[in-house]
Amino acid sequence: MLRIIIGLVLTAVAAALAGRRLWYLYRLARTGQPAPERIEAVRAHPARDAGTQATEVFGQRKLLQWTVPGVAHFLTFWGFIILLLTIIEAYGDLFSKTFAIPGIGHWAWVGFIEDLFAVGVLVGIITFAVIRLRADPEREGRRSRFFGSHTGAAWLVLFLIFLVIATLLISRGAQINTGDFPYAHGAFASQIVGHWLAPAGLAANKVLETAFILAQLAVILGFGVFVTYSKHLHIALAPVNVLFSRRPNGLGALQPMRSGGKVLDFEEADPDSDIFGRGKIEDFTWKGMLDMATCTECGRCQSQCPAWATGKPLSPKMLILDLRDHALATAPYLLAGSDEAREKLPEAVKAEAARPLVGDQAANGVIDPDVLWSCTNCGACVQECPVDIEHIDHISDMRRHQVLIESAFPTEASSMLKNLENKGDPWGMGEARRMEWADGLGFEVPVVDGPIGDDVEYLFWVGCAGALEDRARKTTRAVAELLHTAGVSFAVLGPAETCTGDPARRMGNEFVYSMLAQQNIETLNEAGARKIVASCPHCFNTLANEYPQLGGNYEVMHHTQLLARLVSEGKLTPVTPIEEKITYHDPCFLGRHNRVFTAPREIMEQVPGVRAQEMHRCKERGFCCGAGGARMWMEERIGKRINTERIDEALGTGPDTISTGCPYCLVMLGDAVSAKKASGEASATLEVVDVAQLLARSVRSPATAGTPAPGPAGPDGPAGAGQPGPDKAG
Ligand code: SF4
Ligand code: SF4
Repeated sequence: MLRIIIGLVLTAVAAALAGRRLWYLYRLARTGQPAPERIEAVRAHPARDAGTQATEVFGQRKLLQWTVPGVAHFLTFWGFIILLLTIIEAYGDLFSKTFAIPGIGHWAWVGFIEDLFAVGVLVGIITFAVIRLRADPEREGRRSRFFGSHTGAAWLVLFLIFLVIATLLISRGAQINTGDFPYAHGAFASQIVGHWLAPAGLAANKVLETAFILAQLAVILGFGVFVTYSKHLHIALAPVNVLFSRRPNGLGALQPMRSGGKVLDFEEADPDSDIFGRGKIEDFTWKGMLDMATCTECGRCQSQCPAWATGKPLSPKMLILDLRDHALATAPYLLAGSDEAREKLPEAVKAEAARPLVGDQAANGVIDPDVLWSCTNCGACVQECPVDIEHIDHISDMRRHQVLIESAFPTEASSMLKNLENKGDPWGMGEARRMEWADGLGFEVPVVDGPIGDDVEYLFWVGCAGALEDRARKTTRAVAELLHTAGVSFAVLGPAETCTGDPARRMGNEFVYSMLAQQNIETLNEAGARKIVASCPHCFNTLANEYPQLGGNYEVMHHTQLLARLVSEGKLTPVTPIEEKITYHDPCFLGRHNRVFTAPREIMEQVPGVRAQEMHRCKERGFCCGAGGARMWMEERIGKRINTERIDEALGTGPDTISTGCPYCLVMLGDAVSAKKASGEASATLEVVDVAQLLARSVRSPATAGTPAPGPAGPDGPAGAGQPGPDKAG
């Protein structure tokens, strides 16, 4: 009877403590803004979400991207699910020493599986311990993914898990010796422990059985309570967070600005009552708060972040943790029902609630502006996060508030925003120069004037860089030449094309973005555009993923996808060998954000003579060039330059040429290569080119391959000798 009372009292106390904490956290999340679109999405796609739970939660797909910690987590996760059976058995044992789970409680394979996973959990936590020791943040500093995590709590949890398994095996071993164990065979680990305990005799084993069953329950219940107060809350929250996360993930499109659960209409928005981005912790939605509570502090995001890797203060993990710490510290203020109740709160709580969400050290901000503006929107954090936290959405929402309400953003980006508003391109060169890239081509490029005819298959979206920036113009010319050679009918918008608005949106200026986007959608719809090929991944992403939010629905592809298809269909045949070692740099908005990894590689494979050499960080783990997230128009004052870091990695492959598929990358990597050439660290012949340029060079016959085509002047004046034919010399 005593053991029943002890067991039930322990359970009641633990349930009360954990339940109180969970209720508190639930109420805190409810102080966030509504997010009806998340609930609607789950209601609308139950089968899809069940599949996601199966692969992400039960299949541990993202965790297994890192093999060793992934397998360790898989064993621990499934160990705890299987060991739920042993918890049922422990509770049953309180009431009957010979308890067995009805129906299956004497099947040998159940005992075997229970022991197998108990050992699996032990293997898992030993692996975790070794990983943590090897990546000790005290020793490794910023290189450790655990830098900035609460490592003390993590060690305590590992110890608690060890105690769960140790008490389980000792109680089961004693049960074998007392004859109370339900499984005659199969429970191999329990039998080993029973063998060790047998010399103590029957009486001692009876005491051990009772003591360790109670100890096991106490440890499990204590663990359960601790979980609700620690980062290990992810055990309960991860499936919920995954369920309500964006599908397929938080990459690709940015979300529209929402206030009170509705998409903000700038024409009707009221600055006094509407929320513009996130300016205070309670401006985050409940899903945002769920993100904060779910972070496991694993540091996978931090380990892949180009800003963090190059010495900047931004760590996606610490950004989420800082928001979480602030939300928890402000919770009494947010949950106080009245001004009177808030007045009575401790001064420390009131001071925390008064902190600006974004502000420098002097302003005691929760997030430093250098943290907020260091993000390149590369998506590595979202890609890696095993619990589907949407870092880019949170960063963009905070930027939106800074730009639209506080007018606080890096001043050097203001001319880009003004140029977009007044001239429709980031450089302020204007529509009149948008067709200069086509000067000197040996064929006419049709410019849309009215509805697109049935004889035109593709609208070629040139993009601002493709039309106006010297190096990117070479890609544009190469793509046009290749389409022409393949007999693909295409047309361009020419002066009617304006910036997609991507740089403004990624800066946080949703107002300028929507103005430009609406203008483009109107132009495209009037022209009747359906199939669009874009040469800039940022344009590609905006046209394909973001314009549908405003009613612009088109079939969009990147030029590498179309060119790869034309090669495979035999409409383009690379003939001229390019005897070079080439390393391909994945543009973030082409690769990670839109999962176009194979098309550029397929093109390179078809070019005779090319020896492709992957960089260590490639495909899903590709490393940013530093230009995304509107960083192209901001100074990079802190740490090592991201483009230099990338080029250092590229140089490690000993390349003759570096290829890519994005005008931003072309410029950023080209600048870094120029600096390396100047310092003698790179060969004078090393070049950065678009994959389309390589293909165009090879598609030309050997007789013409080296002949530079005449070309136009670039934005900074004449572009140099022979520019900009799609050949290596040009
Ligand atoms: S999007 Fe890229 S730069 Fe921004 S926080 Fe994530 S990993 Fe870092
Ligand atoms: S945000 Fe995701 S990847 Fe980063 S530490 Fe938290 S759980 Fe890990």
